[in-house]
Amino acid sequence: MTAIPNIISAQKAFFKTGKTIAISERLKYLKALKNEIITHEQAIYDALQKDFKKSEFETFISEFGLVISELNLAIKNLKKWSRPKRVTASILTFPSSDYIYYNPYGTILIIAPWNYPFLLAMEPLIMAIAAGNTVVLKPSELTKNTSQLLTDIIENVFPKDYAIAVQGGVETTTTLLSQKWDYIFFTGSVPVGKIVAQAAAKHLTPVTLELGGKSPCIVDASIDLKLVAKRLVWGKFLNGGQTCIAPDYVIIKAEIKQDFIEILKAEITKAYGENPKTSADFPRIINTKNTKRLAEMLKNVSIIFGGNVDENENYVSPTLIEEPSLESAVMCEEIFGPILPILTYETETDIENIIWHFEKPLALYVFSKEKIFVEKLLKKFSFGGGVVNDTLIHFGNYRLPFGGVGHSGMGAYHGKWGFVTFSHKKPIVKRGTWFDPTLRYAPYKGKLKLMKTLFKIFT
Ligand code: NAD
Repeated sequence: MTAIPNIISAQKAFFKTGKTIAISERLKYLKALKNEIITHEQAIYDALQKDFKKSEFETFISEFGLVISELNLAIKNLKKWSRPKRVTASILTFPSSDYIYYNPYGTILIIAPWNYPFLLAMEPLIMAIAAGNTVVLKPSELTKNTSQLLTDIIENVFPKDYAIAVQGGVETTTTLLSQKWDYIFFTGSVPVGKIVAQAAAKHLTPVTLELGGKSPCIVDASIDLKLVAKRLVWGKFLNGGQTCIAPDYVIIKAEIKQDFIEILKAEITKAYGENPKTSADFPRIINTKNTKRLAEMLKNVSIIFGGNVDENENYVSPTLIEEPSLESAVMCEEIFGPILPILTYETETDIENIIWHFEKPLALYVFSKEKIFVEKLLKKFSFGGGVVNDTLIHFGNYRLPFGGVGHSGMGAYHGKWGFVTFSHKKPIVKRGTWFDPTLRYAPYKGKLKLMKTLFKIFT
């Protein structure tokens, strides 16, 4: 493996050749990447199965399918997206033609997590390449099979000075972060996000942080609880609960809690059978460390369903917990596993007291038919993004910017938003030469009154 500083200087030199500016060049590589990924479709399913027993179906809907859609979108729209966008000129620049140019930043570091190891590595890479950058990708060290496959795919498609995957753990990431990048795109936990932000600040490197948090799911009494249970069980237990936007906990109107719990139990059993350990559709926890972390959360709380842990197999069953204290371990950090605490509310103030107890979450879900109640929640709380009457699905619309706010992250991507994130928006004014009023030039004596009038009229 080439030393990290050498990789970066080779990529910077390649960027300076201007080859990535050509849209035809970018398209050539995006198409080659698509072919390579399609050729490896089965290998991708196999890698994720080996890494944490993720089913082919879930890998298709939440990794492979989304990556191919993102590639199709970029390939179809790249010419349009990258054209300088004309905007209306201002009286202050008249006569002029004003534009926004979308310029690549240069050499980009992308650090990916393990929980959607293919999607969350490939999706930023696709848009960084579409925007004309070179890329060093650091996939997660916890998903060895998927990370090796990612490395091979990138190596088969790109010259190393254009894009490369560098595998490794904390030590490697620390070395990568000590270098000077033109942009850093990080997906992972809040504590590591802070390390990344500090490293970026040293070189004034712009950064996107896609982090996590405790995303609430509020359920009121106006809605069909069977439908809520179905959509909540899917969103919570997909990927074994290891989803950044998984509903972390439920806040339900107190009077319907008991009915809802019974419906939830039935729904979990319907999805994964009497023994989810034997279900082909229920993934494992990524490693023993995280299995133990989740097992700790199950101590000293009221478990009303599940609660089975097998550390040898990194298995934690779908579990429901009733009314944990906000100070208990399960409520003190992002759960990131198949454990669902159920809290209750009587008044809207109870909801506020719970949500404002935590940092700004990555997502918020509300199930209700009461439009005023829903709008109040959507407008009052600060969170990355959300869904009314379902879970997770805002991730699936590439027209919506996806990202956090405050502790759940900064910046956004998906679809064209990704292209925009990886581009510097460069304002350019092309000034006409046929008309040059003297008003703005010194000497200013006697011109202020007219200037003030013009400002009043035109701004
Ligand atoms: P993580 O922060 O532990 O690791 C992410 C990456 O950072 C990995 O590549 C890892 O090698 C590297 N890393 C780990 N420790 C480091 C250190 N001390 N110094 C430098 N680099 C280090 O996160 P994870 O466990 O892979 O993923 C889970 C977290 O990611 C959850 O908090 C989840 O909410 C969040 N997440 C967010 C999104 C999103 O889109 N917002 C998506 C997926 C996951």
